[in-house]
This record gives sequence, C-alpha cells and structure tokens, in this order.
Amino acid sequence: MVKTSSSARLARSRVWAEPCLIEAAKKEYDGVIEEFLAVGEKLFGPYVWGRYDILFMPPSFPFGGMENPCLTFVTPCLLAGDRSLVDVIIHEISHSWFGNLVTNASWGEFWLNEGFTMYAQRRISTEVYAPWGEPTPEVWSSPLDTQSHPAAQALLALFAASS
Ligand SMILES: [Zn+2]
Repeated sequence: MVKTSSSARLARSRVWAEPCLIEAAKKEYDGVIEEFLAVGEKLFGPYVWGRYDILFMPPSFPFGGMENPCLTFVTPCLLAGDRSLVDVIIHEISHSWFGNLVTNASWGEFWLNEGFTMYAQRRISTEVYAPWGEPTPEVWSSPLDTQSHPAAQALLALFAASS
C-alpha cells in the first residue's frame, strides 16, 4: 500500500498492489493523485466519494482502467516508470464527476459519460501540466471543444457559470 499524500490530513488516496509492484507504484503516483483530485474539485466541484484508491489488477486485466466510486481498477501496464501514462488515472478520476456522480439514463447515451470525462480529463491535465493557461494542441482536438456542438455549448456554459 502506498499513501499518495505526505499529509495524514490529506491522505484520502492509497494505491494497492502486489508487493512486487509497490515501489514502482510509489514512484509513479506519489503525491500526484491528490493534486489531480484537488484540481478536479477546483474545476468541477467537491469530490463526494471520500476516498480515492487505486487497485492494481493482475496483468490479465483487459482494460487500462475501470472507474468505480472510491476505487479504480488499473492494469500494471500503467507503471511506465516515467509517469507518461498518468493520464489514464486523470481519466478515471474525471469519472468521479462524469459517469459516477452524473451519468447517462440509458446505454444509448453512454457516449456522454466518456465525452464529458474526456473533456474533464483534458481540463485537469491542462491545469496540472500547462498551468500558464496555454492549452496543449491535444486539448482542443476533441469534438466537444469545437463549441458548435449543442452538448459542448451546454457544458461550456455550465463550467463558465461555476467558475
Ligand atoms: Zn472512461
């Protein structure tokens, strides 16, 4: 188990892994998960689930990550050693607001979960990795960022009203 915050007060996140993965997990995520949560809260409101833990699944786990309230399942393939795949964690954290907190009414609208989550992921990534306010080119390549799609307009208006 790796606590991802140096402060006991802020230790709302832990990483769970087999003993052979603990050091790699600590190197990959020490201190960053709380930062992602804090930026998510700044952008989208309180994180309502209390804890946010990550559980490393066996290598046969067929997905990069699977969000669940309080506990995200991830593949050990994310342990790249250089934090280059940390965007998967940002994505799963983004599901705390879009998918877990607010979700689609039917499977036909499932794209809303992933669409809003990708938007949130890129907003958090931009805030953490490009704090000077210059969006990375990838950020604005999403169809939701064209500002012409009605869903993008509604989402942008919602975020503008909340900031
Ligand atoms: Zn997703």
